[in-house]
Amino acid sequence: MTDALDMTATQLRDAIAAGDVSAGEATRACLDAIERTDGQLACFNEVYADRATQQADRIDQRLAAGESVGALGGVPVAVKDNMCTAYGRTTCASRMLAEFRAPYTATAVTKLEAAGAVILGKTNMDEFAMGSSTEHSAVAPTRNPWDTSRVPGGSSGGSAAAVASRQCPAALGSDTGGSIRQPAALCGVVGFKPTYGRVSRYGLVAFGSSLDQIGPVTRDVRDAALLSAVIAGHDPHDSTSIDRPVPDYAADVHTPVEPLRIGMPREWFTDALDGEIAAALRRAAKTYERHGAELVHVSLPHSRIDVADDGALSSYAVSCYYIVCMAEASSNLARYDGVQYGHRTDQAGGDIVEMLCRSRAEGFGEEVKRRVMLGTYTLSAGYYDAYYNKALKVRRLIARDFQQAFERCDVLLCPATPSVAFELGSKTDDPMAMYLQDIYTNSLNLAGLPGLSLPIALSDSGLPIGMQLIGPALGEQTVLRAARMYETISDAADHKPSVTAS
Ligand code: GLN
Repeated sequence: MTDALDMTATQLRDAIAAGDVSAGEATRACLDAIERTDGQLACFNEVYADRATQQADRIDQRLAAGESVGALGGVPVAVKDNMCTAYGRTTCASRMLAEFRAPYTATAVTKLEAAGAVILGKTNMDEFAMGSSTEHSAVAPTRNPWDTSRVPGGSSGGSAAAVASRQCPAALGSDTGGSIRQPAALCGVVGFKPTYGRVSRYGLVAFGSSLDQIGPVTRDVRDAALLSAVIAGHDPHDSTSIDRPVPDYAADVHTPVEPLRIGMPREWFTDALDGEIAAALRRAAKTYERHGAELVHVSLPHSRIDVADDGALSSYAVSCYYIVCMAEASSNLARYDGVQYGHRTDQAGGDIVEMLCRSRAEGFGEEVKRRVMLGTYTLSAGYYDAYYNKALKVRRLIARDFQQAFERCDVLLCPATPSVAFELGSKTDDPMAMYLQDIYTNSLNLAGLPGLSLPIALSDSGLPIGMQLIGPALGEQTVLRAARMYETISDAADHKPSVTAS
């Protein structure tokens, strides 16, 4: 069933509807692909083989009965392991939740299933979505299918590597500071983070509640539009979800944006950016220009990157993001105490406080502990104004820069990552180096804006380079159409990674 594995979600949906391939065959092809390649990659924490097969067979029965089966009828989709499902486990790749069975299903997943998608299983991630390499997973580090000695990015590394290696045509990820776009860029696939609130967070295990957003990881922009249209929309269970109609993103994704004004943030095209990535992005900008787009230079002063004399990078956006996300994480993770939720220590003796401390010490990994401690610190009396309140003010300035930039352009063309995929283990001992992976991604989470990363080139070392397109709030359609435009006009060939199931 190699054919089904090479198809995009849209192609597969159409082939299933036309009777060229059955939903059962497509699902079995993915299950078989996972079986063959996941030993090398560790993309999946759990696979729902029986349930997925039954779901697919039911789609085939409904098709045989002449029923319509939805916008994703029979398409196998993987879901990041921080989205609750009333079946299987939802572990966040943490020892804390190793045995957690959620009593309900996340709205985004319910919507996928209502549209006929078959849920294959849960994908690996950095523990509680904290990280940029999937090496903070308590299960195993996921590997990059382009080079298994390198990381796939994170925290949605399992989703990106699964889609890149053709274990499945599409997956959901979550993005708090770049966790969909960065792994998509490092694995050579498309990752899209919609506007904050566009997709319900109900059933998404909370990390930084004012930043978290669910979105698709796919092999092309057409599929990103298809999945986004399915999962977006207001949800009474999430009061931060936006109550506005959802356009059918897929229907007009092929319509070019004309005229198209592309903004290039001056502060992001500096020496801090890898030369090969900068060159690839400039080529992409020229390609747009040749097809009628206008390039304008814009400024994002509060997202600028400073390079110290010793070469160390810093940015207000990264500092601001880590203060906000750690503060929110420290509060969100208070519920894992071995009583309300999560692992409880086996060690007898002591009082309830000791039990709680031991449970948390055993359940959480190093990075999660670091963030809970730093987050608690920035929220504590005496430090709150100096750190947390100041970060909120900087956040406002970062958002205002974007607003001003969008007065002069329709989308921003930017890097997605400062470099191509790095070697496993090369940044695990240096949290700051890991945090700086988000230097081009997290300022738009702070501003709540939509951003998409798509593959545009391969480096000399044969690794994917991503381009990030950013839109104004609720500008999903513009971002998707501009990205699709590039996909159709560019000659970026359909490269394949070295570990692939098809
Ligand atoms: N790398 C960022 C962090 O570690 C982003 C994570 C995310 O988007 N979930 O917080």
